Amino acid sequence: MEPMVVTLRELQRFDGQGWRILSVYLVTDPSTAPGRNVRAQLDDLVRPLVAELADDQSAGKQLAHEVAAVQQFLTMMDVPARSLAIFSSTPRGLFRAVRLPVHVASHASWGQSPYLRPLQAVLDEFEPTVVLLVDKEHARFFRVFLDQIVELEDLRDAVPGKHRQRDGAWAYPPADWSQGGWGDAGIQRHHETHVLWHAQRVAETLEALVAREQVDRVLVGGTPEVLSVFYEQLPSELRARVAGEVHVPMFARPAEVLVHVHDLAPQVERGAEERLVQDLVEQAGGGLAVFGPSEVVQAVSEQRVRLLVFAEGLRLAAGRCARCGLALLAPLPPTCPACGGPVQALDDLVAHLEQQVLAHGGRAEEVRGPPAQRLRDLGGLAALLRYAPPSTPTPGETT
Ligand SMILES: [Zn+2]
Repeated sequence: MEPMVVTLRELQRFDGQGWRILSVYLVTDPSTAPGRNVRAQLDDLVRPLVAELADDQSAGKQLAHEVAAVQQFLTMMDVPARSLAIFSSTPRGLFRAVRLPVHVASHASWGQSPYLRPLQAVLDEFEPTVVLLVDKEHARFFRVFLDQIVELEDLRDAVPGKHRQRDGAWAYPPADWSQGGWGDAGIQRHHETHVLWHAQRVAETLEALVAREQVDRVLVGGTPEVLSVFYEQLPSELRARVAGEVHVPMFARPAEVLVHVHDLAPQVERGAEERLVQDLVEQAGGGLAVFGPSEVVQAVSEQRVRLLVFAEGLRLAAGRCARCGLALLAPLPPTCPACGGPVQALDDLVAHLEQQVLAHGGRAEEVRGPPAQRLRDLGGLAALLRYAPPSTPTPGETT
């Protein structure tokens, strides 16, 4: 169901077995100068990598193969995305191209593992989302992920009008019903009851779709009158997933809905990050979250991290044990305190922690903008834990 997430996991776990991987980020938007000449952009990115490999003939040869594979892909690309992320390692049978709905910084790297940070940042920003457009009679449900939108379902519930119709064509009971039946007040009530039924049905459908699509984020669009009835029908857990409101006409084309969702994405994501940092602060009180490099490194090494959270641009001087992988903060000890293995310097502690957390079934999230500033004040790095640190060894817990 989720090819992009599968691709990311596959890339995270990719083992080159000694072969290198070319990772390329290209701006392909034809409304930009680099996007109009993608070939030249690629050449410029690759040139320094080729120069570095001047003395290593076999590596140079592999790089030339990967560049050719990327070039061939570019000639076959039909509708351009705004950007592309491409990962290629021909000897290992790897070629993945991911269309991205935003401009990324052009970049190429040649390494033992795919360079995923920019891709992860985009995926973070564009979390899979269910979009609901609702009015008194209709509801349309979409699923949006990156630059793809799929209409999942539409609902129609006929609602009788608020007022008696003049032409008498109305199919509901006649207007001369006695009081408490279909007098003006009754008609108004009847109308409201139908709106309520519709809202209930929409809420139930949304709940089912969110569960089926395994989506955490919901955006809704509709008039305030209808939305207020609708919100009352939502279970609080589902209400908490509504991350914002889109202002799109009820019968907009999917492409139009997509544009609105993209425009809203940064704002929605900052809002979600703000709530995340606040949640961390609250959970820390109960021992279920920790802040700061040393606490987080400790929790990661104990495999207790459910969610690693870090501020954009965080850089920390650190090291790792070459034998057991334990992350170590500066000043580095000469040998690993856990296993006595040799210690290597690490230029990106965050990436290392992220890998370990993902390997143990956790997730990682980068926060940007104002929430990142708040997180920096709290140590730059934090983690939501699976359980509070045990005061005594927990039975059945093995590492
Ligand atoms: Zn060690």
